[in-house]
Amino acid sequence: MSDYDAIIIGAGISGMYQLYRLRELGLRVRVFEAGTGVGGTWYWNRYPGARFDSESYSYGFSFSQELLDEWHWTEHFSGQPQTLRYLNYVADKFDLRRDIQFKSRVSAAHYRENSRSWLVTLEDGSCHTSRFLITAIGPLSAPTMPKIDGVDSFKGQSCHTARWPHEPVNFAGKRVAVIGTGATGVQTIQEVAKTAGHLTVFQRTPNWCVPLHNAEISREEMAEIRGHYPEIFARCRETFACFLHTPDPRSAMEVTSEEREALWEKLYNNRGFGLWQGNFRDILIDRKANALVSDFVARKIRQRVKNQAVAEKLIPKNHGFGTRRVPLETKYYEVYNQPNVELVDINQTPIERITSRGIKTNAVEREFDIIIYATGFDAITGAFDRIDFRGVDGLKLRDKWQGGPQTYLGLMVEGFPNMMMQMGPHTALGNIPRSIEYSVEWVAGLLRHARDQHVTRIEATPEGVASWTDHVKALGVGLLSNEIDSWMTGINRNVDGKQTRIIARYSGSAPAYRARCDRVAADGYRELRLA
Ligand code: NAP
Repeated sequence: MSDYDAIIIGAGISGMYQLYRLRELGLRVRVFEAGTGVGGTWYWNRYPGARFDSESYSYGFSFSQELLDEWHWTEHFSGQPQTLRYLNYVADKFDLRRDIQFKSRVSAAHYRENSRSWLVTLEDGSCHTSRFLITAIGPLSAPTMPKIDGVDSFKGQSCHTARWPHEPVNFAGKRVAVIGTGATGVQTIQEVAKTAGHLTVFQRTPNWCVPLHNAEISREEMAEIRGHYPEIFARCRETFACFLHTPDPRSAMEVTSEEREALWEKLYNNRGFGLWQGNFRDILIDRKANALVSDFVARKIRQRVKNQAVAEKLIPKNHGFGTRRVPLETKYYEVYNQPNVELVDINQTPIERITSRGIKTNAVEREFDIIIYATGFDAITGAFDRIDFRGVDGLKLRDKWQGGPQTYLGLMVEGFPNMMMQMGPHTALGNIPRSIEYSVEWVAGLLRHARDQHVTRIEATPEGVASWTDHVKALGVGLLSNEIDSWMTGINRNVDGKQTRIIARYSGSAPAYRARCDRVAADGYRELRLA
């Protein structure tokens, strides 16, 4: 059994950077990673069309000037292959791999009070101990297959998008089915439609998608972007969710309809998340404002899709624009004008079962060569549920969070001393590497304090947890997104016990979140119980 100062679970963006920062403190650190390589999300999600929805240069690590100087993003929204190359480059540059153990899925982590340490067990049965445990397991890393009878009976090729094979999959001339039309499904569909012989999309809930407007970045352009890195990261620090887009301070209701249309037209034609993150300040809280912008996007869909019956199926009816994560697309709607693409609304013709040959709805059985499950994740708490975390007196985290997560700053849980969470429930997500860098540095600061002050036990207090959890819940009041089923509200109809909406996400601003965490550090972490 090997012993470390800190064990990190996961070698994605959080785990890699946490390793780098904890090594700087002179700690003996071990990272356990289930995959065969670094990259987390970008390691697992190799599905066709996977790419950033944040501008590449706002997404990469900002901590190393050398890295910023060396790396050339070739597209405004980098595709998965380049992103994975980037993360491997980072791993090599900072010599991270020597402390990462691959093919090592953590199955259990138990706190032991007598030694104030964690006992971490891997799936192969091996055990490791450490004083501190940092979870870097990602909010969207526990893929879920649909609860449909017969999923295992299909004889063709089938795959969940987050478990995509490492070898290329050829769609040419093939009959392909995609189930799921979230951000992943949309990216997959628009790519597969280019070569598939026939593509059938099984849609349960349409989402409001808007154009990505990706483009290549030339050497000259990248040199110019490099010159602006300080402004880019400063901007991300100021915005609500760390994206480059800043909301318009006006209400959608206080301007004329011409002014509204002008802004929306501009945002629709600009790169990235502008229409979602850079819109009037009230489109996600005011029903009337939201209905107006939804109507604007619905008109765009009707213009882009030739068959109006299909267009109507693609327009969401049960939720307004931006109240679920907005998928960004490149000619997604035009896909439905292609003769080789069919949209099946499974509310009208429900899937009865997967058969050995294909998919049977209550109307017809269709045969396929390939079935792609773009059916999403048991989000935020799912990755925690898949590991047997036990705190003081054997308390199970799964039991503690049964009615929804309770955390201190999204970073710690009472009863689970010396465990810190990266991108767990109740933290600011947004443009995630920006949040990760902050949060990793905060945890490194806490562990530096522990090292310097000879602190061997750190625990959140019940008051701290109650007050943060209440704060997170209060922030969610009035947000239209909390009235809708989605992974953001903890719903996954394929997972038992995930049918009730919860507030699992911090929905305040990232600057406010950082200010709160900064105060705790400046105050010598006195809000925590240190021993
Ligand atoms: P998702 O948004 O949860 O979408 C899952 C899809 O599968 C939904 O359309 C869902 O329908 C459908 N589905 C699930 N179970 C089904 C069933 N039994 N029968 C039929 N349909 C079923 O998951 P995702 O698309 O993987 O995206 C998750 C998140 O990952 C995104 O919101 C985003 O935050 C992140 N992501 C980011 C990027 C990027 O940055 N570029 C790309 C992809 C994903 P219902 O809506 O009816 O449940």
